[in-house]
Amino acid sequence: MNLKLLESLALGEVRYFDSVGSTNDLAIEWANQNAPHLSIVIADEQTAGRGRLNRKWLTPKGTALALSVILRPEENTPLSRTVGLGALAITDACLKLGLAPQIKWPNDILLNNKKVAGILVETLWDGATARAVVVGMGVNFTKEALPPAEALNFPATSLESALGKAASREEFLREVLASFIARLPQIASAQFLNAWAERLAYQNEEVQIIAQSDEITHGKLLGLENDGSLSLQNANGNRLTIRYGDVSLRPSA
Ligand code: ADP
Repeated sequence: MNLKLLESLALGEVRYFDSVGSTNDLAIEWANQNAPHLSIVIADEQTAGRGRLNRKWLTPKGTALALSVILRPEENTPLSRTVGLGALAITDACLKLGLAPQIKWPNDILLNNKKVAGILVETLWDGATARAVVVGMGVNFTKEALPPAEALNFPATSLESALGKAASREEFLREVLASFIARLPQIASAQFLNAWAERLAYQNEEVQIIAQSDEITHGKLLGLENDGSLSLQNANGNRLTIRYGDVSLRPSA
């Protein structure tokens, strides 16, 4: 991949690999050493890409973008909003291409109601202090990036399928990072939260939240709480808060 387009961005250091296990694993290792703020790990292929809960994220060679951004948070950085930063950056880049992206809370990006990208945020703690936050992003460019249908828990798509033509990985990468850098200083603002909330899929629709225990919560999707938690209204009209955790959101059947 030609990374010349990144030269004008205020990044830390850039590490590019033809093939890695997982960009998040390398980013965490590097963050544990001396990676400067806004350093990135990019790979052309992941052989052990991860979703949440040790689910697999597929990144076959040359078909997708696998990117991890290392943040050195300040004391007042709202860590629970960093997943929104990744989601806004990817959706900004999709909007630039003329697409209509939506965010499937908490960590997936949809085009035409299908998953085109996923975000995996992992934090490196030093006692109670976050030493680094790694925002991992995987974006499907061609249909070869998609896992076989039977391996999917939600329909998937690629930028190429949604656009009807190929998209440049280099240009998309630059747009994602430019947006990430521009929005980071605003991460604590109301505007940031509003922009994030406006892009949520299933607004005012009935959804189900599936917990790891398989317990299902039903409700109408209202929006976001200040910390990025999801706000639902249940059948009795009560407001429920769903925290970012290992829960999955699905539209109600
Ligand atoms: P969810 O949020 O949908 O519950 P995760 O965020 O943990 O799931 O993402 C992992 C899941 O995404 C995998 O179990 C698999 O079904 C799906 N998946 C894996 N690779 C891809 C890909 N390249 N594109 C779309 N979906 C994928």
